[in-house]
Amino acid sequence: VVSADPLADTPERAAFRTALRSLIERESPVERVLELDRAHTFDDALHRRLGELGVLALGAPPEHGGAGDVRDQVVAVEELAAGPTSMAVFLIVHYMALQLLSEHGSPAQRETLLASLVTGETRIAFALTESGGGTDVARAMRTRAVPDGGGWVLSGTKLWTSGALRADALLVLARTDQEEGEGARAGIDGITIFVVPRSADGVTVTELDTLGVHSLDTCEVVLDGVRLEGEAVLGLTGRGFRHVLATLNRERLNVAAGALGAGRGALEAAVAYAREREAFGRPIGAFQAVQHALVDGAIALESARGLIVRAAEIEAAGGRADLLASMAKVAASEAAVRITSEGMHLMGGFGYSLNFPMQRWFRDVRLWTFAPLANEMLRNHLGERMLGLPRSF
Ligand SMILES: Cc1cc2nc3c(=O)[nH]c(=O)nc-3n(C[C@H](O)[C@H](O)[C@H](O)COP(=O)(O)OP(=O)(O)OC[C@H]3O[C@@H](n4cnc5c(N)ncnc54)[C@H](O)[C@@H]3O)c2cc1C
Repeated sequence: VVSADPLADTPERAAFRTALRSLIERESPVERVLELDRAHTFDDALHRRLGELGVLALGAPPEHGGAGDVRDQVVAVEELAAGPTSMAVFLIVHYMALQLLSEHGSPAQRETLLASLVTGETRIAFALTESGGGTDVARAMRTRAVPDGGGWVLSGTKLWTSGALRADALLVLARTDQEEGEGARAGIDGITIFVVPRSADGVTVTELDTLGVHSLDTCEVVLDGVRLEGEAVLGLTGRGFRHVLATLNRERLNVAAGALGAGRGALEAAVAYAREREAFGRPIGAFQAVQHALVDGAIALESARGLIVRAAEIEAAGGRADLLASMAKVAASEAAVRITSEGMHLMGGFGYSLNFPMQRWFRDVRLWTFAPLANEMLRNHLGERMLGLPRSF
């Protein structure tokens, strides 16, 4: 049956969504997600199954075992975020690394690292942010790599690196030189991406305590005189930050899809509860105040979905969707925060209980209003590029 909805999944994508949904129901039921969240444990078994289903290969080039594009990635991230949200966060970083390696990797980096990420044999983390600030990260960057013979010596400290504890390799951004020109003045040029083995001498990873996303470690990464071969550079020396900027549209879409999924999971749980829970002799979902809050949540999510799907189609066709992707990220992350807040309120004590999933979504989605980029910065970007207002930062 061909749907009349232009935003509906194609039959192939709908089949993929169904297959992934049933894998998540089987491998990652609500109780298991809560248990792993409480134990701060990554779901290795689910990661393996995602490799088998081809989820880890989405967006990679076919010659390295890849298939699909950003439209498939947003489906995967949405479905995972609706259940084991930490795995969606893992996947967002993974897809960004696939893009960087596909677009800029040397033949050796593609044949070894990219190919093994696609199968799930290896895992990667992305270390950009530092303690001096993530929003204005290029200017705040203190991590340095200095040439040494044919190689480099890397020193500095990265903060909030997702998945570093369990990663085989880290993509680390470091200052390599002081260049001239506008890019250098803005701090954008003179930064290089390095592929750093997690086990290299001088790399120390420490897990940090955070509010949410507990089934994926968030880490501090100390790089103390790490010696790297010349081949450790990913892409062009001094142009690493520009390589990263080029991945941001897709990352934004994937983050929006994560917020959409988590918001959807929370909304469905809240609706189910509102149907069952009784007060004054009727289900609380029969009270107009409750019903309207849930409907407003559904409207916010569907609005975000429209932006995500439209932007993903443009991106997949090779067009520019930066404004739509920025709008999608703001709309979806704010919808998710609002819905999980309403959900907590609606479920009363059961919302507050750590034995029910609403509080996990409530904690997890808070990440996405300020990371990977704060919504204020996206509004700044939209004010300038969409509305033609003066640059505000
Ligand atoms: C769980 C978690 C996982 C993460 N994973 C990774 C990872 O894998 N790799 C990585 O590199 N980083 C990661 N990060 C870091 C994340 O990208 C940063 O936290 C984010 O970029 C914000 O940076 P910051 O925390 O330094 O906040 P700051 O840069 O200090 O910004 C704080 C606030 O200031 C305000 N602000 C700043 N500039 C402006 C402006 N121009 N106009 C208006 N308001 C402004 C915004 O409200 C912003 O939220 C992660 C963070 C967390 C918490």
